[in-house]
Amino acid sequence: MADCLFCKMVAGSIKPDIVYEDADVLAFRDINPQAPTHVLVIPKDHIATINDIAPDHDALVGKLFLAAKKVADIDGIATSGYRVVMNCNRHAGQEVYHIHLHVLGGRQMSWPPG
Ligand code: 5GP
Ligand code: ZN
Repeated sequence: MADCLFCKMVAGSIKPDIVYEDADVLAFRDINPQAPTHVLVIPKDHIATINDIAPDHDALVGKLFLAAKKVADIDGIATSGYRVVMNCNRHAGQEVYHIHLHVLGGRQMSWPPG
């Protein structure tokens, strides 16, 4: 998607602070971190929202979680704990319409979320 911010990161025309990358996913630090670790994990293929995930994306969605786990290991928060969140559409506060897992950790989280 030519006008998608996260597709531009995948293409390399915008360069984020990359934490982890493989053939299918890219993980980079959020520009406005809400915790000591705040990393976004995206598929390299454009999928706008959770509602657009198709049955043949099943392996790719699994890879997002495997990458989230790797990010937690890289940042040393796997044992202390972390939260993985994906927002969908307006009521959840989705701002970028290319699906992304937020990996948040390095501090105590509260529940329920706002
Ligand atoms: P959403 O609200 O869609 O779930 O999350 C979008 C996230 O993308 C926000 O946490 C926001 O700070 C982050 N973000 C927006 N623009 C940029 C950017 O240009 N670079 C990076 N690294 N993160 C961004
Ligand atoms: Zn995109």
